[in-house]
Amino acid sequence: MDEKEILRIFAKEKAYLTGHFLLSSGLHSPNYMQCALVLQSAWLAEKFCKELSKKLKSHKIQCVIGPALGGMMVSHEMGRALKVRSLFAERVDGSFSLRRGFSLKKNERVLVVEDVITTGKSIYEVIDLIEASGAKVEAVACLVDRSDGAAVFAQEFHSLLKLRIKTYRPEDCPLCREKKVPLIKPGSRDFKALKK
Ligand SMILES: [Zn+2]
Repeated sequence: MDEKEILRIFAKEKAYLTGHFLLSSGLHSPNYMQCALVLQSAWLAEKFCKELSKKLKSHKIQCVIGPALGGMMVSHEMGRALKVRSLFAERVDGSFSLRRGFSLKKNERVLVVEDVITTGKSIYEVIDLIEASGAKVEAVACLVDRSDGAAVFAQEFHSLLKLRIKTYRPEDCPLCREKKVPLIKPGSRDFKALKK
């Protein structure tokens, strides 16, 4: 499965849209990604994670952890692909922790996963959590790397798809200038109409 094929599946599942979108940041973009829409098809989540797991063959991973919520599904499916325990980290009073009796062993080799990495901030926090517990972060992996090279890790970093989504300030937006494609706010009524 190459990047083109993966992006084609994302587009087919309406997890990757092309148009004219108003983002929550106030910026405009010709594309919008909602990874949950592809992960809702559990068999696609399984397929993608199986593919991603091939890139991690050289590592002897013993456990997978993803930050909730986005990283949970990927952690689950990576755990299935690698046949290791799948954990998730949750935010408690603003910082990530392991709850529900989850624990790591000293020197356990851990893979940190996420659905989409943009800044890498959550991942850095989960890495700190793992290292503080005495376990070892072996690698980082995600389905979509949207960081455009900004997310840098001390460990090996693998992704299935590298995607740079352009954003514009409203006053600089070429789509606004062309006036051909209406501006849509993802999640709004218009957005739902667009998905039909
Ligand atoms: Zn615009």
